[in-house]
Amino acid sequence: MRIIADTHTHTIASTHAYSTAQEMIAAAAEKGLYAIALTDHGYAMPGSPGKWFFESLGAIPSTYNGVRVLKGVEANILDKDGTLDMTDEVLADLEWVVASIHGLLWKGKPSVEAVTNAYLNLAKNPNVNVIGHSGTPKFKYDYNTVIPELARNGKLIEINDNTFFFRKSSCENCVEIAKTCKKFGAYVVVNSDAHFSSKVGHFSCAIEMLNEIDFPQELIINSDEIRFKKYLEQNGISLV
Ligand SMILES: [Zn+2]
Ligand SMILES: [Zn+2]
Repeated sequence: MRIIADTHTHTIASTHAYSTAQEMIAAAAEKGLYAIALTDHGYAMPGSPGKWFFESLGAIPSTYNGVRVLKGVEANILDKDGTLDMTDEVLADLEWVVASIHGLLWKGKPSVEAVTNAYLNLAKNPNVNVIGHSGTPKFKYDYNTVIPELARNGKLIEINDNTFFFRKSSCENCVEIAKTCKKFGAYVVVNSDAHFSSKVGHFSCAIEMLNEIDFPQELIINSDEIRFKKYLEQNGISLV
């Protein structure tokens, strides 16, 4: 299986990632990827860039070195209502929005009910493309309720390769999430969550897990260029 787009990556703008946008795009070109999404952290994450950074991403060409560069963000999910740390206005202007929970920013108790409710609300948020690394045990949710609802609303569920290195306690849940996606025919997206250029296009652990559970390739949105481009088109995102 070949993954043709890496849609969750960080640059030095996140301040805890260590390559420039140019280095990340060059790495994507070297790996022969069709696209890369630059998704630095939303405002609430310590050290993350401000509004002006996200509003100025048009400075980067939409295709560079032969790679389609999607301008995006990894927005932070803050509470049980699925509130994000960026305004709808800024999000609407971005091409690619990953929404993720990060433990340090969550307000309130992370009960299964609260996290389930947050994702159900995000399913209805037109600005969100991807639910990022949702396997964290502390933020478990009702997979059988949330995943079909995300799928119904065209949201992608991320299988994050970085989890297999840095969030090992989440691996068991990731398998369960992938199995639930398979059961409901929900689309997933395989991403590196690279914080350094050499990690761009690194998907091997995620792919190995998906192969182990015999996950259908046609449900991986970025395992085929035509399928991925169709998703972009359907969501009003330019192909070039
Ligand atoms: Zn994250
Ligand atoms: Zn990330």
